[in-house]
Amino acid sequence: MSKKQFKAESKRLLDLMINSIYTNKEIFLREIISNASDAIDKLCYISLTDDQVGLSRDDFHIDVIPDKEARTLTVRDNGIGMNAQEAENNLGVIAKSGSLNFKNEMDGEKGEDLSIIGQFGVGFYSAFMVSDKVTVITRKYGEESGVKWESTGADGYTVAPCERESVGTDVIMHLKPDSDEELFGTYLEIWKLKALIRKYSDYVRWPIRMDVPRQEREETGEKNDDGSPKYEYRTVVENETVNSMIPIWQRSRKEVTDDDCIAYYKEHNREAKDPCALVRVDAEGAVSYKAMLFVPGEENAAAFYGEGKGGITLYSNGVMIMEKCDKLVHDYFEFVKGVVDSPDLSLNISREILQHDRQLRVIGQNLEKKIKGELEKLMKDDRPKYEEFFKNFGYHLKVGVCDEYGRYKDFLRDLLLFHTGEDKQVTLKEYVENMPESQKSIYFASSDSLRHAMSLPQCAEVKRRGYELIYLLSPLDEMVLEALHDQDGKSFCNVVTDDLGFDTDEEKKAAEERDIENKDFLAFVKESLGERFSRVKFSTKLAELPCAMSTEGPVTLEMEKYFRRGPSEEMRKVRASRVLELNGESRPVQVMRETWESDKEKAGRIAAILGTLAELMAGADIDDPAELAKNVSELF
Ligand code: ADP
Repeated sequence: MSKKQFKAESKRLLDLMINSIYTNKEIFLREIISNASDAIDKLCYISLTDDQVGLSRDDFHIDVIPDKEARTLTVRDNGIGMNAQEAENNLGVIAKSGSLNFKNEMDGEKGEDLSIIGQFGVGFYSAFMVSDKVTVITRKYGEESGVKWESTGADGYTVAPCERESVGTDVIMHLKPDSDEELFGTYLEIWKLKALIRKYSDYVRWPIRMDVPRQEREETGEKNDDGSPKYEYRTVVENETVNSMIPIWQRSRKEVTDDDCIAYYKEHNREAKDPCALVRVDAEGAVSYKAMLFVPGEENAAAFYGEGKGGITLYSNGVMIMEKCDKLVHDYFEFVKGVVDSPDLSLNISREILQHDRQLRVIGQNLEKKIKGELEKLMKDDRPKYEEFFKNFGYHLKVGVCDEYGRYKDFLRDLLLFHTGEDKQVTLKEYVENMPESQKSIYFASSDSLRHAMSLPQCAEVKRRGYELIYLLSPLDEMVLEALHDQDGKSFCNVVTDDLGFDTDEEKKAAEERDIENKDFLAFVKESLGERFSRVKFSTKLAELPCAMSTEGPVTLEMEKYFRRGPSEEMRKVRASRVLELNGESRPVQVMRETWESDKEKAGRIAAILGTLAELMAGADIDDPAELAKNVSELF
């Protein structure tokens, strides 16, 4: 029998695939099972109108048969089968333009991009990743005899007539010998095959069966010395259906309750806690898909970040094509877990990869809207639960707002919560809605703890006027406000660094005049404090407090603290430019002013004490706390 050559392009693709690119060899089983399932679909369809088939729906199945002695793995189906011509055309050629284009793009490339093949499947040829010979024995529906197709890989194949009792196909993979890198023999182990079927083919519509040996004990009729019965153990082989067939997300809402979905989620993700939101979509249109997504009830870092980003698994008609697909939704929703199943996503690489991408984008955009909608609903219906969600995953949303120069800020802004008190968090929209008529800006104060932020001296005047403040608890929060720019036209005002906008023009002028009048006194205070403050000025925002520290320029105190933990020396040196603000109406400042006229040394000591107090209240690090004690002692 003469050996026929594969068409040139198939040969090159085959070489490429077998020799280099595939890291994920185990998907071969998924590919071969998918083909078997398609072949059954076809015959089942014919059987609807043709009595001659002699099979009803329940008679169709796929058998997976490992044979350790022969070192073969067989996938058998009773589907439509192939005749000689078809075997030759279908298995000997990859004549589809898509795959050819794809190959050209990939030629000469190595590395990451190539792994994409593994995500979309390569069909029958993937059997050669694990086999050094593949034999196909098939008989087409309507034919009297069968065909044997055989190949040892890229060097060609043979086709010959053969006997086969019934219609269907056996794909017999002669597994490669084990090597140091790869143990192909594991594909003969029942546990491994079961695991692969469950992982990739759990939702194939037809039963995938396997003979599974099991130990069974039976009483022998004899007794042990203590009178207990004696047992005999024997191995029973049971034909088991390994896959669960109909995926839960494929069933209608009437059949499957939300509780069923939640039970599925907990079982499949090994989660103890209920998800805080469930999104179910059954979309039909340009791209049809079903989705069942979950927002986890708690942050399970190991599960999320253990292996790659994204928690959404892609299926095409129940066949898993990509685990944790990170292309589907943006990183700000990367905590979402679940499945998306679209028949429009083909397993076959012969379709343009880019086309997949477009479809994925459409699906992703729709899903993001649904996820957002569900989160908004949660915020409205169950605020404490939403707050819990935000505690767990708010970070992702905030990073999302700052990402790509704020491109997604308007999509995300209504999902953000900000503290306005110990037990109170609001969205910016709610904040603005609650603003009294007289309030012009959104006031915020930053610190690393809520209590400290609330006690910042500069908040006093804002509170006195009956306005609420937003408390920011991380430098990221400050960046978020910067990215958001404003809320409904109201700009953000940092109570520590910005002009609160309370003073009238006259008051501002009076303050300037007062600073000029007190020029020498302020210069004296600054000098007494050495390098610590870049400026000393009077302030009207301190209510009852004598002094406060603020910063000016682009670097705030929170940013300074953040940078101080940074990786480079240069970063750690970044300092906020500090301003000492004095309340001219307060007694200590007045005493200092009076003392300055008569006793400069004592006035300098009061200045040092007020400077340190201001630093302490701002939460800045104090270089020399003992000096405060010394100054206080010497004063009395
Ligand atoms: P794809 O399935 O994506 O078209 P494959 O390389 O996996 O590409 O298979 C090529 C063709 O071989 C299939 O389209 C089908 O016509 C045929 N084929 C493969 N396996 C079987 C099978 N078990 N029964 C019948 N036909 C099969």
